[in-house]
Amino acid sequence: MAARSSSGDASAVNLMQTLFPGARLIVAANRAPYRRATGLHGEPRWERPAGGLTAALDPLMQRFGGVWVAAQAGAEQELAVPPEDPRYQVEVLGIAPEVYRAYYSGYCNAGLWPLCHNLVERAHFRPSDWIAYRQVNRLFAERIAQVANADDIVFLHDYQLAMVPGYLRGLGHTGPIAHFWHIPWPPTVVLRLLPERRLILQGLLEADWLGFQTEDSVDAFVSAARKELGARILREADGIRLLYQGRVTRLAAVPISIDAARVEEIARAPLTEDRIVKLRSRLGLQDSALLLGVDRLDYTKGIPARLDGFSRLLVRYPSLHGKVQFLQIGVPTRTEIQDYRRLASAVRRRVQDINRRHGRPGWRPVRLVERNLRLDQLVALYRLADVAVVSSLYDGLNLVAKEYVAARVDGGGALCLSETAGAYQELRDAFPLSPLSPERVAEGLARALFSSSEERERRMKALRAAVARNTIDTWLSRVLQGLRSAAPQLSGENATPV
Ligand code: UDP
Repeated sequence: MAARSSSGDASAVNLMQTLFPGARLIVAANRAPYRRATGLHGEPRWERPAGGLTAALDPLMQRFGGVWVAAQAGAEQELAVPPEDPRYQVEVLGIAPEVYRAYYSGYCNAGLWPLCHNLVERAHFRPSDWIAYRQVNRLFAERIAQVANADDIVFLHDYQLAMVPGYLRGLGHTGPIAHFWHIPWPPTVVLRLLPERRLILQGLLEADWLGFQTEDSVDAFVSAARKELGARILREADGIRLLYQGRVTRLAAVPISIDAARVEEIARAPLTEDRIVKLRSRLGLQDSALLLGVDRLDYTKGIPARLDGFSRLLVRYPSLHGKVQFLQIGVPTRTEIQDYRRLASAVRRRVQDINRRHGRPGWRPVRLVERNLRLDQLVALYRLADVAVVSSLYDGLNLVAKEYVAARVDGGGALCLSETAGAYQELRDAFPLSPLSPERVAEGLARALFSSSEERERRMKALRAAVARNTIDTWLSRVLQGLRSAAPQLSGENATPV
């Protein structure tokens, strides 16, 4: 696989210069790309989250300058980054803790998150949370309006910031606005459970370009905008646009990706080889296969049914006893929300039950590691795992699936991937998993485990080609091209209403 680097001479950097000469990038996302932290001995330290989004946008911002606006509970922070050679500004809005809680843990994570993943019974929409959500979105818009010129690109991220495009226009901002929705957009019948759906749709439709992970999400958004707001659909050769209250918004399915070159580089590093040798011996894998799950402990990831599926596999195939292990990395997340604490307890209980039921001296069938691992640690596990198991009930994309594939520079391994994860649309050569029922999960795992080495190699080769075709740099280039063709001066006159 020849994945292009997302740094330095990356094509998105060149495109930005060609398509938007003189523009800076004004990014807004709930989280900042750099954080000032304190080391073990009280010394100041910088933390740089390893996410693909930062990896993609950081080189552009370093080259062309700009501002990244984020939010946190507590005090405001302003940072010039990167710390060793400052090129752009990070402005972290300081939000009163109770307002931040209502906005983030409330409206975002106990409301929009479960609703957009179709888990309607978990979704709660409290009027006070909605007030906080609007308040924080307004603060974002005000800060962006202060720092952005009309020819800068405003690039907004995710479900935390749905009202920002509308507020920005209200503040008189006329420049290009792109908004990428990282999670699924729900079907209209589900969206109707959201009391503020029309305001959210109106807010988003003030952007020039709206990006989603899948065609399903684009279709669902178009349907909602038409049915809930009466927006008109304009189909053109280069994609779909919506016309609402005189503004035209271009929509696109642009699945996000990973810094594949970086993952490959780590996968080939001598340090990774050393780690693999040590891990193999520590986990006792000389004579047994490793199944691996890597997820935040989120109820959308389908972890209980996955573990139950593994248990069924052991019941059905006694020959696997002592010959397989399941390692689940479960990163603690959103622990202030009761549903998440309950899920973590349920997962722990299942792990104990499976080990009690099937384990024996010298063989522990399942291990749960409740810790956030660094990418280099994960890559060693990816290299080691015979089967990676991604069984999300519903997932905007799922980056772990792509990371696993990119890490398999040896061409080995097998990916079991939920058909309802967005990534499945690109990774059709994975072994498909139906994630809801343990029986189906067990079938999917058995298929991967008992497949021929030729089949596994063929599938992995095709998967690696798919990941190489769409890296984080390709994604960003497609966003820039989409936004260019949706620039505000374009009107809907030449398009054909349907
Ligand atoms: N991740 C990590 N450490 C861990 C587990 C996961 O850094 O211990 C990273 C992983 O490499 C991936 C991201 O978290 O980039 C998870 O993204 P994904 O799209 O799979 O799921 P999300 O958490 O965004 O729902």
